[in-house]
Amino acid sequence: MAEVLTPDICVIGGGSGGLTVAAGVAAFGVPVVLIEQGKMGGGSLNVAVPARALAAAARAAGFDFVKVQEHVRRTTATVAVSGSAERLAGLGVRVIKGHASFKDRRTVMVGDVEVRARRFVIAAGSLPAVPPIPGLEQSPYFTGETVFTLTAPPKHLIVIGAGSTALELAQAFRRLGSDVTVLDAGAPLADVDSEAAAIVATALERDGVAMRTATIAKVDCTVGNVTVTLDGGDTINGTHLLVAAGRKANTDGLELEAAGIRFDSTGIIVNKKLKTRNGRVYAIGDVAAGQPRSTQAAQYHAGLVIRHALFRQSISTDIGAVPRVTFTDPELAQTGMSEADARRRRLKIRVLRWPYHDNDRAQIESETRGHIKVITTAKGIILGVTIVGAQASELISMWALAIAQGLNIQAMTDVVVPYPALSEIGKRAAMDFFTPGLTSPRLRRIIAWLRIFG
Ligand SMILES: Cc1cc2nc3c(=O)[nH]c(=O)nc-3n(C[C@H](O)[C@H](O)[C@H](O)COP(=O)(O)OP(=O)(O)OC[C@H]3O[C@@H](n4cnc5c(N)ncnc54)[C@H](O)[C@@H]3O)c2cc1C
Repeated sequence: MAEVLTPDICVIGGGSGGLTVAAGVAAFGVPVVLIEQGKMGGGSLNVAVPARALAAAARAAGFDFVKVQEHVRRTTATVAVSGSAERLAGLGVRVIKGHASFKDRRTVMVGDVEVRARRFVIAAGSLPAVPPIPGLEQSPYFTGETVFTLTAPPKHLIVIGAGSTALELAQAFRRLGSDVTVLDAGAPLADVDSEAAAIVATALERDGVAMRTATIAKVDCTVGNVTVTLDGGDTINGTHLLVAAGRKANTDGLELEAAGIRFDSTGIIVNKKLKTRNGRVYAIGDVAAGQPRSTQAAQYHAGLVIRHALFRQSISTDIGAVPRVTFTDPELAQTGMSEADARRRRLKIRVLRWPYHDNDRAQIESETRGHIKVITTAKGIILGVTIVGAQASELISMWALAIAQGLNIQAMTDVVVPYPALSEIGKRAAMDFFTPGLTSPRLRRIIAWLRIFG
């Protein structure tokens, strides 16, 4: 007879979001089942870590691909330990290997195991989106997930897409010695601050990556031989093809209809509490429609769901508080509203900036490319921050905190930062808010009056 499990929580997917929910719930001693059909760790471990390790090794090891691969393999193996089935079992999570699908509104099947839980959390992630380009489906191509199986750098890599993943991998392979051409119908990093995106695009071009804005008419591809024909007839020849043109929610085989869960091509429809139309079921991370797609977003969702499911706390997703990063060199990090977002909403804003080249640490490290841009309301409430430059992924955290806490820019001028450090860039931008006031006649009169007292 089939085994029947009745945990409080059943998590589908052992990636960034699912692992966080399962480990968090188990830490409170609550019975939890986690179902994973593939490798534990999901996207963060199996693609994000290798991608970052590849880029780091490309900087350090230059053209030695064997050393690069060894670094990628070793890093991934080390990080894998924290999300392993054994570690989770040790925490009290019942891990089941296999594909989960809903049987009805409160039952999930995995093989012949039936899981009837009080709550379900779908954290099934996303899959590469493959654009409908004639010839592409029949072609051998790599994605952000499979590109790490290459045993040598491609002679000429053609990348379809110019989003974060596309540019990160393009730069890494260029630095490993490949010729690289990036093709996209739109501008590179079209969904972030355009000024910062242009700095990243220029950096890639300086590295020797060919960036072309063009619509692809068709692809002809055999192993080791790629021909991309553009609208207008131009052709580009390469040896390998990488499709990094976005991701789509992975709802494959979940049988969501059986559980009364609504979904469309953008993912599972959730409300601000990350609940689906079936009140027992949450959806988090990449599979949830309208949510940012990153490890930090999935983990943020996981934290909210734990609070709601275990403690019945009131929660509401705030996607503006989730920072997003493009791990190119220079890095690009953004949190909250961009300048364009704020202007589109016709908000009365101040735009504060400070360049890296006016920072002592940046000069010491010869990392003078880039700037910070801070958007505030007229009264100084911080709405959004974009940083392009060295360590942007680290520097953005204090701004994410500032936005989440609704801080005024004054707080960022009052904070004492180390010297010499890149974090001074943010403080200097913040001080810019008060610069116009320094020359005000009223302020000068107050200072003159106070001098009377000695
Ligand atoms: C090349 C690349 C680089 C990236 N780099 C970064 C980065 O540097 N930083 C960052 O924040 N994000 C990065 N991302 C994005 C990040 O990996 C994802 O946003 C994140 O992993 C999403 O977490 P998740 O829990 O929603 O899904 P995932 O981590 O993808 O986990 C989903 C899991 O669910 C399992 N699953 C799916 N369906 C079922 C089912 N029916 N039954 C059982 N199991 C199932 C899958 O096997 C998978 O393990 C990168 C993505 C790519 C492609």
